[in-house]
Amino acid sequence: MRASDKNRIIVEAFELTKVYGNGAATQVCALDGVNLEIHAGEFVAVMGPSGSGKSTLLNMIGALDRPTSGKVIVNGQDISALRDLDSFRGRTIGFVFQLHNLITTLTARENVEVPMQGIGMSGRARRERAEELLELVGMQGRFHHLPGQLSAGQRQKVAIARALTNRPSIVLADEPTGNLDSASGDEVLSVFGRLNSEYGATILLVTHDPNVARCTQRILRMQDGKIVHEDIVGDPFTEDLKVLARSQLGQALLRDEMLDMLSPEEREVVRNMLGRVA
Ligand code: ADP
Ligand code: MG
Repeated sequence: MRASDKNRIIVEAFELTKVYGNGAATQVCALDGVNLEIHAGEFVAVMGPSGSGKSTLLNMIGALDRPTSGKVIVNGQDISALRDLDSFRGRTIGFVFQLHNLITTLTARENVEVPMQGIGMSGRARRERAEELLELVGMQGRFHHLPGQLSAGQRQKVAIARALTNRPSIVLADEPTGNLDSASGDEVLSVFGRLNSEYGATILLVTHDPNVARCTQRILRMQDGKIVHEDIVGDPFTEDLKVLARSQLGQALLRDEMLDMLSPEEREVVRNMLGRVA
């Protein structure tokens, strides 16, 4: 990515709304007026309870579906105005899902080659590109393994390589570590981190795990189809302080009757440290 790309806006959503179902009694407002901007090179997490609209948001940005009202513009293209969502998605979006969706009868390399078929690349160019991407995600030496011969974390890395084949403008990952044990989850997360920091990839990642979210740069919290809170991720010490400040203990420490037990100097320190991030 060029430095001048840094300010480029990759995703813009204006009052983005998605209503499922048509009978009034069965209608669900999965997205309710979401406004959002994501710049090139950003690594953003989406958190929120189950059913809050996280996947729907990814699906709208990823051109899997059209909004009911409002707008979503991805890479300068208004998704509602697109005739052919499939070809736009293939050129612009890299999807990684919770379940890897690899084809079980194809090797790692063949799986990564699938999205490159039918776009006029020679077989050799496809193979070379697939191998380059598998190396990028740390899967050198596993080109010819079938998904069944790989660990869950390794399968997810193949899925990431596959998502990168067409040099997407944004990678959308829906709970990519949700199905992994914590060690494989960490490994997969570090692949995303490296893609972002070394290659400038723009990534939007849904997660339930606060430890995953704090590895990104910005956290969006959703509830009832809305983004209700946005948080810039600080350095590890500040993030630890936030956890303490939001805990029952941290909240108790900030109560007047507790602060009254401290000297003015100590009170100032507690207020400065916890009050600032609470
Ligand atoms: P999350 O990913 O945060 O768990 P979703 O975006 O999957 O939430 O769902 C948001 C809401 O929309 C939920 O109430 C869900 O039941 C509903 N929903 C999602 N997809 C559909 C669909 N295809 N048809 C009807 N309702 C849906
Ligand atoms: Mg979901």
